[in-house]
Amino acid sequence: MMRTERIQLMSPSPGTRRELLVHRLGQADARPKVYFQAGLHADEWPGLLVLQHLLALLQDAERRNAIPGEIIVVPYANPIGLSQNVFGYVAGRFDLTGTGNFNRNFADLYLDTRDSVEGRLGSDLETNNELVRNALRAAVAAELAEDETTALKKTLLALSIDADYVFDLHCDDHSSAHVYSVKRQADKAQDLCRHIGARYLLTEDLDGVVAFDGSHLQPWHWLQKDFPDNPMEMPKLAVTVEYRGQYDVSDELAAVDAANLFNYLVGEGLIQGDAQPPQLEDVHVSALESVDSMKAEAAGLLVFQKPLDAWLEQGDVFAEIVCLDGDQPNQRTPVRARTAGYLMARTHRRLVRPGDQIAKVCGEKPLPHRKIGNLLQL
Ligand SMILES: [Zn+2]
Repeated sequence: MMRTERIQLMSPSPGTRRELLVHRLGQADARPKVYFQAGLHADEWPGLLVLQHLLALLQDAERRNAIPGEIIVVPYANPIGLSQNVFGYVAGRFDLTGTGNFNRNFADLYLDTRDSVEGRLGSDLETNNELVRNALRAAVAAELAEDETTALKKTLLALSIDADYVFDLHCDDHSSAHVYSVKRQADKAQDLCRHIGARYLLTEDLDGVVAFDGSHLQPWHWLQKDFPDNPMEMPKLAVTVEYRGQYDVSDELAAVDAANLFNYLVGEGLIQGDAQPPQLEDVHVSALESVDSMKAEAAGLLVFQKPLDAWLEQGDVFAEIVCLDGDQPNQRTPVRARTAGYLMARTHRRLVRPGDQIAKVCGEKPLPHRKIGNLLQL
């Protein structure tokens, strides 16, 4: 039976307390362990609906005794952000109390974990893995959490840090489905993309800033460098799945997305059954340093000339910014692609100011203005 728990979060102000809901399916503490969450950026809603549909499928699988390990589902990962309603708009990406982006600055567990396992690692892969997982759990438990948001992040990590698969469901402004993974898991992530029908895979390094998904891999990445003679295996896959655009919330999409995710789990042996073939053949893979994040260069009204997913050559005009306060009416600043690639995401903002992110062009060549280590935008 699905076990449901409500975890009380730290009270931020008198009379107020939020809670996190956690569903557990399969065998308690069994492996492989799979972790799903949605809405860490609390203004990104499609994944919240996907998980509602997925939970029904998982419950059905559980009734058939078809879940060999454990599957944990956090149907809304950020009750703080969900409540940040500012004059009718949900401001769910950044913490209004000032701790920053909800999907950054998770506890750095590497040093504590290294200190804990040093001198205790041997030659057996599974023994080492369990040693590292125990050390990671202890490192999370030892983290200080002095404010509500930090405590939320700690709670999420405590649920997920020892998982074999981590799926963090997000979305963009207006985009096709895509996935972010680390480069060393690109092959596996590409297979996920084919199964869930995601057209693009964006890959990143593990040495720089990481988001929630990378927080599960980075300690392993560095431990493997520190202890090259002791075999250990990082989680099989930790990814950020971007379920299209903010307003792509529909039962039609979510039911198919949930069925595709479920089918992927079956294919991975995480649920017993016969897997269906993947949805897609071709996935466009771009390293993050080849993805151009375009910013508005002028203030005015943004008008797109090219549809989502259009292929752009370098120099192609794909949008214009209409100047409203020039002496002559309707003067326009063209927005040109700086690299050849797909117009992968478009903002749904229409009144823009200089510096606003307006589009992503998913190219093939590393861009000189993109510096590794500070690229994350999910
Ligand atoms: Zn996001």
